[in-house]
Amino acid sequence: MTTLIKATDLMKVYTMGDSQVRALDGVSVEIGSGEFVAIMGASGSGKSTLMNVLGCLDRPTAGSYALASHEVSRLNRKMLASVRNKLIGFVFQSFNLLPRTTAVDNVSLPLLYAGVYGREAERRAVAALETVGLGKRLDHKPSELSGGQQQRVAIARALITEPRLILADEPTGNLDSRTTLEIMALFQSLGARGITIVFVTHEPEIAQFASRLIVMRDGKVIADKKQTPAVADPDADAHAAAPLKLVASAGGAA
Ligand code: ADP
Ligand code: MG
Repeated sequence: MTTLIKATDLMKVYTMGDSQVRALDGVSVEIGSGEFVAIMGASGSGKSTLMNVLGCLDRPTAGSYALASHEVSRLNRKMLASVRNKLIGFVFQSFNLLPRTTAVDNVSLPLLYAGVYGREAERRAVAALETVGLGKRLDHKPSELSGGQQQRVAIARALITEPRLILADEPTGNLDSRTTLEIMALFQSLGARGITIVFVTHEPEIAQFASRLIVMRDGKVIADKKQTPAVADPDADAHAAAPLKLVASAGGAA
């Protein structure tokens, strides 16, 4: 397995008046191509800060970070953005789709920044939507899609630039248990294609679908273990003798 991420002794210190918060306090992590990694930890433990640094959205205060052998901890903002656009796709809890815009147009949007337009952009957006199982919903707007379908549109949008890494901060936080399984099954299939996925979750039941679990506390990694991933099968859940107790979110999107 080739190394995609090599982060060493990452520090991120926020100064608030007189006090300092060590959001990352010496995090070292190495992640290979195709790994499917779950990050867990209490609120405030540094998960989002780590995702922001890994995602080249923010630079660490100290430490080194190599992504696909680019040393990104020393890049300026413009070069950071360029590495980000080439190598990384983001998926958010709240989907972040443009509301009055079709699935195809939402998905092709990142290609604008890459200078790809028109027919070619549309062709690639359709292919990405087919990859996530939405080949029959190309012209639907977000309001005409379920929450799980909206998240799949967002994943297709993250895939359109053919990233090596997908970062997802609580991607299933707004989804019911069946839809969560659909998204986990989709992530597992992407891992098999060599795409690395790192996602944050609060639910141990969801973390079990990953091939590796990292636990954070107070800005430090306190556990980091490979595991045999559970099979995410949305159809099995309905009949299983011991169904997964996934917590359905009350305010889930329609
Ligand atoms: P998590 O995602 O695990 O809940 P965060 O990475 O968001 O944790 O935050 C880690 C710590 O850093 C928290 O104590 C938080 O208050 C602090 N923090 C995060 N972002 C900022 C910021 N922009 N300014 C100051 N403190 C921050
Ligand atoms: Mg967070």
